[in-house]
Amino acid sequence: MKNDRCPVCGKNLEWKRGSVIFPAKAKKVAVDNLRYQECVACHEKVFSQEAQEKIEKTVYGQKREHVA
Ligand SMILES: [Zn+2]
Repeated sequence: MKNDRCPVCGKNLEWKRGSVIFPAKAKKVAVDNLRYQECVACHEKVFSQEAQEKIEKTVYGQKREHVA
């Protein structure tokens, strides 16, 4: 998989795997074993579609409908 660039600052992104903590309504929720890219400079995280779905299921309990 080719390296992408950070959408914020344009530096290199590197692949990571691990737990990421997300703020939910009542408490913070950790999503384990996520594969994502993180900027080497500003630490912006970039998630794939698959990772985003896993985050939404874990944090919000269900897959949300896309709202335009
Ligand atoms: Zn960046």
